[in-house]
Amino acid sequence: PGQRQDWLGRLKSGLTKTRSGFTSIFTGRKVDESLFEELEERLLLADCGLPATELLMQKVRDAVYQKSITTAEGVQLALRDAIFDLLRPLETSMGVDRARPLVMMVVGVNGAGKTTSIGKLANYYADIGYNVLLAAGDTFRAAAREQLDVWGQRSNVDVISAKGADPAAVAFDSVQSAIARHSHIIIVDTAGRLPTQLHLMEELKKVKKVVGKAKTDAPHEIVLVVDATNGQNALQQIKAFNDALGLTALVVTKLDGTAKGGILAAMSMSTRVPVAFIGVGEKLEDLRPFNPREFANALVG
Ligand code: GDP
Repeated sequence: PGQRQDWLGRLKSGLTKTRSGFTSIFTGRKVDESLFEELEERLLLADCGLPATELLMQKVRDAVYQKSITTAEGVQLALRDAIFDLLRPLETSMGVDRARPLVMMVVGVNGAGKTTSIGKLANYYADIGYNVLLAAGDTFRAAAREQLDVWGQRSNVDVISAKGADPAAVAFDSVQSAIARHSHIIIVDTAGRLPTQLHLMEELKKVKKVVGKAKTDAPHEIVLVVDATNGQNALQQIKAFNDALGLTALVVTKLDGTAKGGILAAMSMSTRVPVAFIGVGEKLEDLRPFNPREFANALVG
């Protein structure tokens, strides 16, 4: 519980706490234009982006008018509800029981936290009793394979890798292994890349296609790992990967220690790929299923 408070607290300080971080901007305030202006500024600073900020401010103003809200605390509640409404369409759960093995392909740009998130995902599912297999599909970087091995060992999950092989071939072989082993879930890592590197995007499409040959209807999940601290740039990444691959879900990382949690509101206004998990630290257990209510409360305080 202490740790939970910790990341919630850090996320919370992003939006409505004063710069010193102790008191809320709602404390001891009158409901006036300066409060609304400050809120609007905070939403923009938290990377909500203009469309989400305008929508949220309109909803808050409407609630204040319709419910005759006269206290700053009432405004705070209205903001919480407005953010919750906006984030709700992003909620999803990965139904990992709908196929066996459930094939999950994980993509993302270098440094987003892809390898770390795969380690955390393997641990999350292994912890609740699933038989998980990892496939080291990043055949370009030896370090990526080694890093994945370390994560696998930490959560007692097997890692399949083939040195120097073609990523699509590794993905194909590992899905076949998962079938032979009766694994519940296979998580296929892919080489980190930039969406602007089109030839690499083509390679990802090939991995996707080949995985479908190893098991019809696979991959069942195509998950983009995206760094929340990238701000508006994250939106472009989501769009590029979604256009090329058809994403089913996101893992949004580095939401601990950032004041940029509003980026999820912006996501809800743009491509709207659902958020399965959020990354809130560097450790194995720092991965949480995305819960819009919890998130809205954390943001607004
Ligand atoms: P990759 O290149 O996408 O595979 O990225 P890595 O998994 O190697 O992660 C890059 C850096 O981000 C590492 O230092 C990780 O510890 C760090 N990282 C990943 N996820 C999180 C997170 O949720 N919170 C924080 N604070 N750091 C993270």
